[in-house]
Amino acid sequence: MPEERDVVILGSGPAGLTAALYAGRANLRPLVLKGIDAGGQLMLTTEVENYPGFPDAILGPELMEAMEKQAARFEAEMLQQAASRVDLSSRPFGVWSGDEEWRAETLIIATGAATRWLGVPGEQQFRGRGVSSCATCDGFFFRDRELIVVGGGDSAMEEATFLTKFASKVTIVHRRDEFRASKIMQDRVFANPKIHVIWENEVAEVIGEGAVTGARLRNVKTGETTDFPTDGVFVAIGHTPNTDLFKGQIELDKGYIVVEHPTTKTSVEGVFAAGDVVDHVYRQAVTAAGTGCQAAIDAEKFLEAGSH
Ligand code: NAP
Repeated sequence: MPEERDVVILGSGPAGLTAALYAGRANLRPLVLKGIDAGGQLMLTTEVENYPGFPDAILGPELMEAMEKQAARFEAEMLQQAASRVDLSSRPFGVWSGDEEWRAETLIIATGAATRWLGVPGEQQFRGRGVSSCATCDGFFFRDRELIVVGGGDSAMEEATFLTKFASKVTIVHRRDEFRASKIMQDRVFANPKIHVIWENEVAEVIGEGAVTGARLRNVKTGETTDFPTDGVFVAIGHTPNTDLFKGQIELDKGYIVVEHPTTKTSVEGVFAAGDVVDHVYRQAVTAAGTGCQAAIDAEKFLEAGSH
């Protein structure tokens, strides 16, 4: 017989771990399937300056380690594995990770979002050989090299600024004539003498031989292409919610899970969702943590109401 749980949480970013903390503290003995990329997107960042309570900033991985320890203190059980299948057709819900199976009275989905890629020729071919989506992971390999960062949001600003620690020159390639990033991040970019911007251009192809040697840029207005020499291309164009597992079983909108605001209730009774898998507006660590807390409280109330 598969093990029965009151609460199963999928994901271990700020949303999943905050849900685990609250559910643990409510004596619900939650099971957390941490997922393949445990810790979520903060594992790929350096200094987090805007998580309240850390006036001198904290490293993303350190913050996640602390969150996990805090949840574990209240008997949240963490497994370093990802759910491979769920069955939401009746309660208790079925949750599988390979051959292992659990039954969950309530399910909290906090599976986050994954890097979006450009989908142009050369991009996948040169991943790990000049194409990256993680400056903090790969920046080190580009000491005194010239790099491109693609995108115009906060991620692109952050990646570009971070990469100047290593690279001799960073060129941001953006498809419009203005950034959507917050003013403070833009100001940092414009004040950095190592960063240059090419506006109204897209990367049409990543060029290389063994490793990246350049990028073919296409002017979005004129269609004209130019080959721009570079040693690396960092893609920072946003994220896609991780919802493949739930397709056809729960209401989605543009891939994001739909919740009944201001709660975390989804279209399936007993299933709650929190963090970036729901949120395409704010997408902050602190908002993810906030909705993770809400999801645990919603699940607790649902169980208390004797719905099982
Ligand atoms: P984002 O805000 O969605 O920005 C994505 C950028 O990529 C946009 O400039 C977009 O261009 C561009 N883009 C999208 N698809 C593209 C394509 N196929 N080709 C070329 N360019 C493309 O994503 P994000 O920068 O990852 O930020 C996500 C959220 O996280 C935001 O809420 C942000 O505030 C937050 N964040 C915060 C921090 C921080 O505060 N420290 C750091 C990182 C992220 P358009 O502008 O033309 O649409």
